[in-house]
Amino acid sequence: MKESKIWFRYNSKNSYSIAALMPLVEAGIAREPKDGIMLYSFASAQAEEVYREVGSAAVDAIFIAGGPHPSALPEEVLEHFDFVVIGEGEETLPELLQVVREGRDPATVKGIAYQQKDNHNRNHGHNHSHNHDHNHDHNCQGHVMITEKRPPVDLDAYPPFSKILAPLEISRGCPWGCTYCQTPRLFGTCMRHRSIPTIARYARRHRDIRFTSPNSLAYGSDGRTPRLEKVQALLVALAELKKPIYFGTFPSEVRPDFVSPAALEIIVKYCANRSLSLGGQSGSPAVLRSIGRGHGCIEVQEACELALEYGLVPQVDLIFGLPSETEADQRLSLDLVRWIASRGGKVRAHRFTPLPGTPLAAARPAPLAPDVEAFLGRMALEGRLTGSW
Ligand code: SF4
Repeated sequence: MKESKIWFRYNSKNSYSIAALMPLVEAGIAREPKDGIMLYSFASAQAEEVYREVGSAAVDAIFIAGGPHPSALPEEVLEHFDFVVIGEGEETLPELLQVVREGRDPATVKGIAYQQKDNHNRNHGHNHSHNHDHNHDHNCQGHVMITEKRPPVDLDAYPPFSKILAPLEISRGCPWGCTYCQTPRLFGTCMRHRSIPTIARYARRHRDIRFTSPNSLAYGSDGRTPRLEKVQALLVALAELKKPIYFGTFPSEVRPDFVSPAALEIIVKYCANRSLSLGGQSGSPAVLRSIGRGHGCIEVQEACELALEYGLVPQVDLIFGLPSETEADQRLSLDLVRWIASRGGKVRAHRFTPLPGTPLAAARPAPLAPDVEAFLGRMALEGRLTGSW
């Protein structure tokens, strides 16, 4: 196994994960399974397709999975894969790869899951791999071992990307426990940040500077109380690069309760944004409470008003079909959609999808009232709403 080539299985949905792991692992990019060690990162929406590919792969490879879906459901994933990296990969993956290549016992690697083989086939190294000409029968071979949890990584110790450019990940982890969201389950509830010099160093490589964060306006803070002096210091440093900066907009967003005149003054002073992406999620106070958002509907409206005052188009994410949602709640969300549209804002509407590892994993989406469905469809056709419709 020592000489085996390592491959990241690339697809359009996992480029950010690969960008973050590329600097740490010497690997090629593969668009199909190859001999060697195959690394996959995927979310639930891609799981079935990935399983089909791995199950029918005619290669001599060890298959390692990571990302949101494998982290939440390692047992399921091990029916198709040899190892699962649970949670953050920066420390775990290089360590696991070394152990696999040297044929050592994976039990020493924190933060992984694997099948403990029965004694008669518990060999390491090459014997650990199998030819994927035929379907796996992992379940018959042993039981799932999950090793000790690994503490969260120090983001600053790792580059955000190397060869593959990705938006700058400035923060990770989230103290809010929104019941539909995988972020706190995957990355923990303690918010961590990259330092300004590190972010600035990597920002030089971008033409436009964009970010990923659970809540950009929480940069430098514990995620609950804004530290705008930190946001300002970050943007001041980046402004020296004289490149357009997009903060609080795609591919990240901000919580509405973090939007304030002071925050928006900083954004409009240093950034090129014409819009602000807000996580609104519902127009119903009862639904917002039940999903643990920690803000009400009024904060969503106030954030929209403020954004407009500062010349930014609010783009509000809303989820329809949350499990506790009644038809009355759906109509409250529709009222919010109409209000946002009437003020010149935009809505990105999503259908609720239960995600593994979250408190709502086993919940069923609430059915949408026919007129609510029809209204959202019409808005989408008119180009006034984007997202799932
Ligand atoms: S939805 Fe946003 S605020 Fe809520 S837990 Fe997820 S990342 Fe945190």
